[in-house]
Amino acid sequence: MSEPFLPFTRPSIDEETIAEVANVLRSGWITSGPKVLAFEKALSEYCGGRPVRVFNSGTATLEVALRLAKVGAGDTVITTPLTWVATANVILEVGATPVFVDIDPATRNIDLDQLEAAITPQTKAVIPVDLAGLPVDRDRLYAVAGKHNLRVIEDAAQSFGASWKGQRIGTSFGEQRDFVSFSFHANKNLTTSEGGALVLPADIDSGLCERLRLQGVRRFPDGGMDVDVLGGKFNLTDIAATIGLGQMKHLEAFTARRRELARQYFDCIDPALGLELPVADFSNSNWHMFQVMLPEGVDRGKFVAEMKQQYIGVGVHYPALHLFSLYRALGFKAGDFPRAEDIGRRTLTLPLFPAMLDGDIDRVCTALRASLSETA
Ligand SMILES: *Cc1c(COP(=O)(O)O)cnc(C)c1O
Repeated sequence: MSEPFLPFTRPSIDEETIAEVANVLRSGWITSGPKVLAFEKALSEYCGGRPVRVFNSGTATLEVALRLAKVGAGDTVITTPLTWVATANVILEVGATPVFVDIDPATRNIDLDQLEAAITPQTKAVIPVDLAGLPVDRDRLYAVAGKHNLRVIEDAAQSFGASWKGQRIGTSFGEQRDFVSFSFHANKNLTTSEGGALVLPADIDSGLCERLRLQGVRRFPDGGMDVDVLGGKFNLTDIAATIGLGQMKHLEAFTARRRELARQYFDCIDPALGLELPVADFSNSNWHMFQVMLPEGVDRGKFVAEMKQQYIGVGVHYPALHLFSLYRALGFKAGDFPRAEDIGRRTLTLPLFPAMLDGDIDRVCTALRASLSETA
């Protein structure tokens, strides 16, 4: 086989951005500085003028959001068991207890029919996740959150560039009381290599957000300083912010290309193969990932190996996280969230990234057919 290996994702960084990163490296100022401020300004504009602060990861972003929402010991936070483990780890990190609500098998996002029943007096916040870039129904989510006066921290790590009924994710769906957390990890739709951004509610002090980001330090005009809160070390560098600024110029084109490639998958995947396809949403989703569910009985490990033999990279996002050892030790067990467990066992992420060629989709579809006949 002469064709090169096709990874499941790959960032697109243009030469102008690479040159601009080189300029930052030569400038003598390579940590947080003017590029960070410029990136925050660009993100704020994108999010309808809301305050935005950037971080060195999406995980740090979520953790600071929980701290700003005053979530801690004795509190519970509701989220989905089908997400990157960071979403739940940060709840433990601040000393709170995660409460999982099983998924809706169609969207693979948190089941909004079951959300309300999970709310108790201890519930301090809910963290919905837009898995694969398909937004959680914002109308229904905020109807429940509003009724129970619950703080929403949107884990929009995968949905930068997506929208809900024509309104961008990142703008406020929750009367300016909602947090929105983005990740700019290398695999996300917009990257800074590693990084994240937090969109702040109107009632939250952005100065406190900055102190939680950097050791709790408050600086005074006379050169003095004080520390009045325990902050972390979560600041983004100007090197990373420069990559983000370069990426912002392409966001719309990236999303459009992903949608186009997703459409091609729907056209080329033979229904007779028995793969379950994602919701065919071409207006809200940013198509962060194209995920198919393998038919019952297919050995996923073997299938992944077969695809690799045909030079196609695939991913698994994600096994249901309550079955990880750390969470089992907290009392979660198989059978707790059967839909998430089922999807977690069968899910497979196919290659999808803006630089993919149309012909790559055909290669993937051919490999899918061959691999299924080997493993079914
Ligand atoms: C990527 C991701 C995160 C964490 O972001 P990092 O930048 O890797 O720390 C959190 N939640 C979800 C759903 C993610 O996909």
